[in-house]
Amino acid sequence: MSKFGYEKSVPFVCVNCHTKIMGSKDERGRMKVKCPYCGTVTVSQIKSRRHIQIDVYAPQGQSVITQ
Ligand SMILES: [Zn+2]
Repeated sequence: MSKFGYEKSVPFVCVNCHTKIMGSKDERGRMKVKCPYCGTVTVSQIKSRRHIQIDVYAPQGQSVITQ
């Protein structure tokens, strides 16, 4: 068991290119995952049971596909 044992792997779909990737969520419900295909970084944070906030950062010099 690593020191990041509290992190839980969750399947995730890149918001930008819709590639299926894996993210790791910590105990506070925060997940940061970088897409290995398009380079987009997605940060998701569970705010409440009914609210998940997702921030999408396109790689430098690019813009997100989904507008
Ligand atoms: Zn992607």
